[in-house]
Amino acid sequence: MRTWLLDLDNTLHDAMPEVFPRINREMTAFMVRELDLSEEEASALRAHYWQRYGATLLGLIRHHGIDPHRFLRETHPFPDLEQLVRRDLRLVHALRRLPGRRIVVTNAPLHYASRVVRALGIWAHIEAIVSIESMSFAGRWQPKPSRPMLRRLLARLRVRAADCVLVEDSVENLAGACWIGVKTVLVTGISHPGTQRGGHTRAGRSKRVGVQVQSVAHLPRRALRSVHRPT
Ligand SMILES: [Mg+2]
Repeated sequence: MRTWLLDLDNTLHDAMPEVFPRINREMTAFMVRELDLSEEEASALRAHYWQRYGATLLGLIRHHGIDPHRFLRETHPFPDLEQLVRRDLRLVHALRRLPGRRIVVTNAPLHYASRVVRALGIWAHIEAIVSIESMSFAGRWQPKPSRPMLRRLLARLRVRAADCVLVEDSVENLAGACWIGVKTVLVTGISHPGTQRGGHTRAGRSKRVGVQVQSVAHLPRRALRSVHRPT
């Protein structure tokens, strides 16, 4: 049986117009408060940590001893999340028809991810949500694209890498999965190279990630064919 590992933001829904700008604003405000920086300095440091570590949180833990749980709670305040996340019936139907296990794997916190999954109307078609809180081992946070984390996740799910497909908008995350033998699908329709949260172009690496689909709504059709290992 195939196991689909589905990224959340910019894969199952479009976080670009409302959600990411707000998270970025809240992270910057958090850093202004906690690190006593100007807004400009905080914003630059946030972008730097995102690029260097793949997650702002890792830089804040490593260099400033920030409490990760408090950071995740305070930077994802969405009383109106259900209004910002658009339900797409094509996505609901596609996930229902996608053969195999379907697991959301996201570098976002669980309280936020579970609300997005509910707001998208796909809760019933998802077996589990693996959030950033469950990507820490022996006191070390290892979000995507950490290969040790992915290996541990596959062991926990009792699946072989060759039976898994990671579906993602992030080329970096796909490259990490590809390295340990997980098949990969790049979702191109929402986030484009150069417009990701880090703001830097990653187009050069996209050739390595194999199958591309514009939207997860197109997956079942592609799933009927074999998902090829990238060459
Ligand atoms: Mg994403």
